[in-house]
Amino acid sequence: MVRTLAAVGRQQAAHHYGRAMNSAESPRDQATIAVTAGRPERTPDAPLNTPIVPASAFVAGGPTEYAREGGPTIAAFEALLAALEGTSESAPAIAVAFSSGMAAADAVLDTVPIGGRVIAPTTTYTGVAVRLRELRDRGAIDLQLVDITNTDAVTAATASGADLLWLESPTNPLLEQADLATLLAHARDADIRTVVDNTFATPILQQPLHLGADVVLHSATKGLSGHSDLLLGALVTTDDQLAETMRTRRILLGASPSAFDAFLATRGMRTLAVRMTKAHASAAYLADQLSTEPKVSRVRAFGSMITMEFGGDADRAQRVCEATSIWVHATSLGGVESSLERRRRWPLEADHVPEDLVRASVGIEDAEDLWRDLARAIQNS
Ligand code: PLP
Repeated sequence: MVRTLAAVGRQQAAHHYGRAMNSAESPRDQATIAVTAGRPERTPDAPLNTPIVPASAFVAGGPTEYAREGGPTIAAFEALLAALEGTSESAPAIAVAFSSGMAAADAVLDTVPIGGRVIAPTTTYTGVAVRLRELRDRGAIDLQLVDITNTDAVTAATASGADLLWLESPTNPLLEQADLATLLAHARDADIRTVVDNTFATPILQQPLHLGADVVLHSATKGLSGHSDLLLGALVTTDDQLAETMRTRRILLGASPSAFDAFLATRGMRTLAVRMTKAHASAAYLADQLSTEPKVSRVRAFGSMITMEFGGDADRAQRVCEATSIWVHATSLGGVESSLERRRRWPLEADHVPEDLVRASVGIEDAEDLWRDLARAIQNS
């Protein structure tokens, strides 16, 4: 455990994946990377997919000795995500997988010194928002919340320095967007570490490392894996030292993923580009249709996500969620199945999320079928 952990990460990946990592022949298109990266080396009889290796300990002498350090199935997922979020041949990204998105978030927050200053969005994923408030109330951090759509306000906040700038763009659930390139450049000038939660956009729509982020965070539970059948998180960085810090946090917090979940996620990510392309097109169509629906007062859309509001009528919003037959009334998002929920049904959801706001995650069903189902539910509610 005293070994240099980032080096271990790279060794694990190189050991298991050889030239599948960002080699000179690496493809650049995301659809091709999603299919080709993180595969075992092409030697006779080698499996095309890294098997599920359910081991808590490994024979001494190799790069991995104990499962909290990782393992081959987890390294396959990490290599694939690193390639998807990666920047250049000379500065390849390193991904570190965690047992959930929240575990990954906690690993980042755990790097802030006691009493350190964190700047974060006013609206962010509820779990992260609650965790940030909890740390503030305990005196562990000094928290400043900012409207990330107001670039001047964020840059003014960063001008007085901070230990961490937390960005989520677009935000969950309001789909607010930050000018990431500008904010990340300011933070870099002010020597502030930055993390961007890229769960909603996925590396298909946005690659924050290219825009200057220090760390990218994923709840791989969502669109990355895409089948609503696992919990998984990840951090990605091009900084070896930071990767080592993140990997150490995983080991010491015991926040390692299971090999089975890493396998399922890798398998799901093979189809990331086709799933997202289909979901994005359907979401754009559905958002257009919704904006012509008289009972819907406001529509927002980004990627595969839509929010709709019902003129302040929370009961109607709730009834719509319960009246569909193709769309499933469920939390979470990014699955092949379309789902929707009224976010304020959760007691901890932020007050500024409207009571009548329904968040919808568009899957890969036929768009016309989805619209007919939703339109019927709205008309009957
Ligand atoms: N980040 C965002 C944007 C999310 O939506 C979520 C979960 O919904 C998380 C982080 C936390 O991820 P997990 O549920 O995998 O712990």
